[in-house]
Amino acid sequence: MKLVLLGPPGAGKGTQSVVLAKKYGIPHISTGDILRESVKTGQPLGIKAKEYMDKGELVPDQVVTGIVAERLKSSDTKNGFILDGFPRTIIQAMELDKALKCIESGIDIVVYFATSTDVAIERLTGRRVCKDCGFNYHIKNIPPKKEGICDKCGGVLFQRNDDNEATVRNRLKVYDDQTKPLIDYYNKQGILKKVSGDMSVNELFEVLSKLFKDARVT
Ligand code: ADP
Ligand code: ZN
Repeated sequence: MKLVLLGPPGAGKGTQSVVLAKKYGIPHISTGDILRESVKTGQPLGIKAKEYMDKGELVPDQVVTGIVAERLKSSDTKNGFILDGFPRTIIQAMELDKALKCIESGIDIVVYFATSTDVAIERLTGRRVCKDCGFNYHIKNIPPKKEGICDKCGGVLFQRNDDNEATVRNRLKVYDDQTKPLIDYYNKQGILKKVSGDMSVNELFEVLSKLFKDARVT
């Protein structure tokens, strides 16, 4: 199953990707995660990307399309993949189509997580991430048992640099300007399915599982 998850920051794409990847045994490919990892390890790519990410701007298309094209060559994608946070611009989408055509493949479904702005802001500004295992918490919706500490591994929780309210608002604006046109792009290809990103994690997981079953893409 070749999946693209589309929607604003805070729609829950990352959270669903983790559970879906496990259920279907396919890799979760998040350009945000890949970029953050290269920031953490101090790679040249990360040093360049960090400036954009901290402002809530998009990293240049050339950089991210290169990363994804490389990643899709790995053998673990042979049964499919979940793309989370890519493509984010029309240029990225066209490059993805090209890369997949080369291997005589294509996206099965693009799930569009329609999410209200208030919900997205609340989720992002309240998000806390485990420094060690990367698990995402929310100060109100998914609080850890012990404040500031990860239930799963005991790691320290932190707030992402781009999860402050001003940067979150910019990320939402960038989404409206540059990513929203993809809804139309994939609608025209007849592969777009819309779900509500405002649902709870479990509700949305049920809806998605049924959607993939009905579409017979698993
Ligand atoms: P969110 O979807 O919550 O904004 P991500 O982790 O997907 O978070 O992305 C964080 C940041 O990484 C983005 O604001 C952007 O700077 C960069 N980024 C991630 N994916 C892309 C992409 N496909 N194109 C350009 N920049 C990207
Ligand atoms: Zn942890």
